Amino acid sequence: MTVFCLVELDGEAVADASLRALTLARGLASGSGTAAVVFVAPPGVDLPVVSELAASAELAAYGAGDVYVVSGLNGYAPQAWARALAELLQAATSAPGSSAPAVVAAGTERGNEVLAHLGAITGLPMAANCVAAVPADGGVLDIVRQRWAGLLLEEAVLDAPAALLTVAIDAVAAEPRPVAAAAAVVHAVSVSVSDADLVVRAAESAAGAGGASLATARVVVGGGRGVGSAAGFASLEELAELLGGVVGVSRVVTSEGWRPHSMQVGQTGTKITPDLYLACGISGAIQHFAGCAGAKHIIAINTDPSAPMMTRADYAIVGDLHEVLPALLESLRARA
Ligand SMILES: Cc1cc2nc3c(=O)[nH]c(=O)nc-3n(C[C@H](O)[C@H](O)[C@H](O)COP(=O)(O)OP(=O)(O)OC[C@H]3O[C@@H](n4cnc5c(N)ncnc54)[C@H](O)[C@@H]3O)c2cc1C
Repeated sequence: MTVFCLVELDGEAVADASLRALTLARGLASGSGTAAVVFVAPPGVDLPVVSELAASAELAAYGAGDVYVVSGLNGYAPQAWARALAELLQAATSAPGSSAPAVVAAGTERGNEVLAHLGAITGLPMAANCVAAVPADGGVLDIVRQRWAGLLLEEAVLDAPAALLTVAIDAVAAEPRPVAAAAAVVHAVSVSVSDADLVVRAAESAAGAGGASLATARVVVGGGRGVGSAAGFASLEELAELLGGVVGVSRVVTSEGWRPHSMQVGQTGTKITPDLYLACGISGAIQHFAGCAGAKHIIAINTDPSAPMMTRADYAIVGDLHEVLPALLESLRARA
């Protein structure tokens, strides 16, 4: 089975969520090799950087046999990316003796958006946020996927000429192959996209500005209503910078207009999987937790010891964040 995996970049590195998706894709390909697809990076990242990553040992170690570097897409344009995938899929399907292929992507906003477009272009069904996928008799795929923001798991059968699925970003660990792999073969691909495919296109990107994205950052400093104002976020931003991370927020913060929706963590925001989530002045409502449950460690700062975020955190600091954060910053600045 030919399995394509859409690989996203985080700054100038392969996104952790994509390595997780590649791990699942490798299992699906079961020995027949996995093809990874690397697209032109977001604005600000040059094609040579992408080509270097494509040829690096990292992608091969996680399962890539062939890596297709698609040029000419001019940054993130979901329909154009999907068009490129559709062309690769078409070529794989029409090859003599080919079996039903699959296209896998991380369950990030981009991964879900691109595969939804691919489904629309090809007429194929798409399963989002899968936690497992196993080939079954009759050429179908048995899948388990998250529903209701991860509150329940659904078992389903994906019966289609080609499977399109995204991998829930907190469900599969990124694991390299147990034995060393041969270097991946890199192919340069140019696709023909129309102006219509480029109508929706990202004009700016956090990664292009030099920072990690919220979805893939290793450290996220979260702020909620307890921060008190837009100006109150200065200390959280400094803390995030010192820790090499990014700031995420609750919905109250975006509703108040203190920070944009692109920074929201949760059911209707971004799902995060950092090593550390430092939640400041966030109560931990279920809709917020749906976005941060994949964090490896949670530290909560809150004046209310019974707030759900405090009871679910690995470490809880009972106190006013306006006193705790300055003390934390002072000690981190001294170390820096
Ligand atoms: C359909 C739907 C979807 C939703 N999607 C999302 C989503 O994606 N993301 C999301 O976040 N929410 C979402 N919500 C909203 C969610 O239900 C909560 O209302 C929201 O998460 C609460 O934000 P908060 O924790 O910042 O505010 P609050 O619940 O008001 O909590 C503020 C916390 O700050 C503490 N605090 C106050 N002052 C201080 C201080 N000085 N120092 C330390 N602690 C202090 C308080 O004790 C309290 O625990 C959704 C709701 C619905 C209905």
